[in-house]
Amino acid sequence: MRFIKTLRGLFAPLFKDKSQIVEQPERQPKKTIEPKLAEEYKRAILCYEDKICPSCSHQFEKTVTRKRSCPTCKETIMVRTHYEAKQKMLLMEAQIEAYVKESGKYYAERHLERLMTNEGLTKAFEKGKKERPTYSPYDIAWGLLNQAGIDYATKMQWGLFRNTRLTMAEILNAEGKWKQGLTMLLEVCYYDLNGASNVATFNSAVDKELLRKYPPFRPKDHGFLAPGVLSMVERNMEQLEYGYEQVKNLFLENSAQVRNSLMPIAPEKAWNQLEKELSERDSANKQSSNKV
Ligand SMILES: [Zn+2]
Repeated sequence: MRFIKTLRGLFAPLFKDKSQIVEQPERQPKKTIEPKLAEEYKRAILCYEDKICPSCSHQFEKTVTRKRSCPTCKETIMVRTHYEAKQKMLLMEAQIEAYVKESGKYYAERHLERLMTNEGLTKAFEKGKKERPTYSPYDIAWGLLNQAGIDYATKMQWGLFRNTRLTMAEILNAEGKWKQGLTMLLEVCYYDLNGASNVATFNSAVDKELLRKYPPFRPKDHGFLAPGVLSMVERNMEQLEYGYEQVKNLFLENSAQVRNSLMPIAPEKAWNQLEKELSERDSANKQSSNKV
């Protein structure tokens, strides 16, 4: 068999007599730099590898591993690992602000891509970005999630609909829109307390009999509050310096708007459950921090 023969061919060197093993050469410093990297960072990486001051080319004896000032030109030199190339580089103090901004943008884009991948929208997101280069990627993601949500709701896939709302909350938070993010998180909690689940549909038409037998909101079977979502609620409350009273108003107002006839738990009752859970978490947190 050809396949096995090929495998053997691959492994053959492993079975050679030890005396035949040729000593490997010393490892070379990695000077392969991503070609698309901006010139200033390519240079900064070489400065790190060659132990050279990026300002005056002073030759250091040892690798620069932390912030220091150059003995020749007195420039403050900082060590950073480039976010994309993952290689260390030496930067001058004046370069840091722009670099931090650039790397922040890079990580935000990767985060957004991950969120869209989790929603199965990678291809649509890439297409949307190409078609609308002037739009912010957040707006493109938002539009796609909104559409996906509508599709799920039409098919009575309320569990999946709830997931898109959670992703939308993450997007709002990533943009620093803490109040809108909190509103969306509270909406997710309301679906969760109502036990949002997915009704099996074989086509887009929803069978009324099936709905009666397997209601898409089943608080007794599926009602819960997700700890991950609650931590996010707490973080947003902290950012906004909100107490329970403000959260309550937001929750009741929004829940009344999004409630549909299939959701059995009323906003007031849901709020009582949510508040109880939040205050229990709060006192548990206080207790554990007192112990420390
Ligand atoms: Zn220098």
